[in-house]
Amino acid sequence: MKIADNCVALFNYTLKNDQGELLDSSEGNPMGYLHGQYNIVEGLEKELEGKQAGDKFEVTVEPAEAYGEFDDSLVQAVPRADFGDHPVEVGSQFHADTAIGPRVVTVTAIHENEVVIDANHELAGENLHFAIEVVEVREATAEEKEHGHIHAEGGCGHDHSEGCCDH
Ligand SMILES: [Zn+2]
Repeated sequence: MKIADNCVALFNYTLKNDQGELLDSSEGNPMGYLHGQYNIVEGLEKELEGKQAGDKFEVTVEPAEAYGEFDDSLVQAVPRADFGDHPVEVGSQFHADTAIGPRVVTVTAIHENEVVIDANHELAGENLHFAIEVVEVREATAEEKEHGHIHAEGGCGHDHSEGCCDH
């Protein structure tokens, strides 16, 4: 069976940056997704189309088809006082409402009266170098198609508290 819309595919992956540093990997725990539903980065999904179990390949995905270009306007200085008594340090991450909706933002610098926060995805502007091994391809269940995501064995594999599911 080849990967196409409404298939569930499981694959092992390693992800490296341009410097060859390992950013992420499935560590033998294959990652599953529903093809055609933008569950994974666009450039990788395109490359998986038509592949089948056992196929191995490498692909480099540019930012436009991954986490976007780095956007300077998403880097902002906010008053230190806005954090009140909250401990703030460089590298801290928290949820914030931004001009483009709720995002995870990262503290990148702290000045006397200002904190610099960055709402870019941590992989924005990066070329993503994937090495992929397709492990399994199967037809999605009717319920998975309806929800637009996979249901892992023994459970749903996603957080029902977000209200996307009724089961
Ligand atoms: Zn669901």
